[in-house]
Amino acid sequence: MYINNIKFARNNQQQKGVLDLKKLSRVQEIDDYTGEIDYELTGFVDKLNRPTLSLRVYGTIHTLCQNCLQPMDVAIDNTSKITVFFSEEDLDAALFADAGSGVEDGVVAEEEFDVMQLVEDEIIMLLPYATKHETCVGMSYADKAENPFEVLKKII
Ligand SMILES: [Zn+2]
Repeated sequence: MYINNIKFARNNQQQKGVLDLKKLSRVQEIDDYTGEIDYELTGFVDKLNRPTLSLRVYGTIHTLCQNCLQPMDVAIDNTSKITVFFSEEDLDAALFADAGSGVEDGVVAEEEFDVMQLVEDEIIMLLPYATKHETCVGMSYADKAENPFEVLKKII
C-alpha cells in the first residue's frame, strides 16, 4: 500500500489495517512470532505547519518464555509521531542538529510512500526480546538439558 505522504498528512487522511506477523518476513527472520497487529495511520499538520503522520500499532504478540519455553503473550500499544520533510537534509537537521525541533521521528516526502514498510519497521522496534513469564515456575532450559556427565556414564 502506497500513499503520497505529504497529501495524506495535509488532507487528514486515515488508513487502518491488520497485519499477520507470520507474513512479515523481516519479523520472522528475528524469531517465529505470531499474532495479528492492528495499525492506524492518521495524517495531520502540526503546530509548525509540518505534515505529520501519527502511527498507532497495537495487538498481542505470541512468543515463547525464554525460561520455560512455553507460550506467552505480550501486548503492545504504541503511537509514534513521524514528521514528513521535503529533503534528507531537513530531516537530518531536525533529528540530529536542532534539539528544539520537537521531532521524534521523520521520513522524507514521497509520492509513493510504502505504508507496510513503515508499519513493519515500527513492529520490529516493539518486538519483545528475551521475554519471561513474570512469575515463571517452569524449569529453565539448562536444567532440562541432560547433564553431559550423565550421558557419558550411560555410554561407558
Ligand atoms: Zn515461563
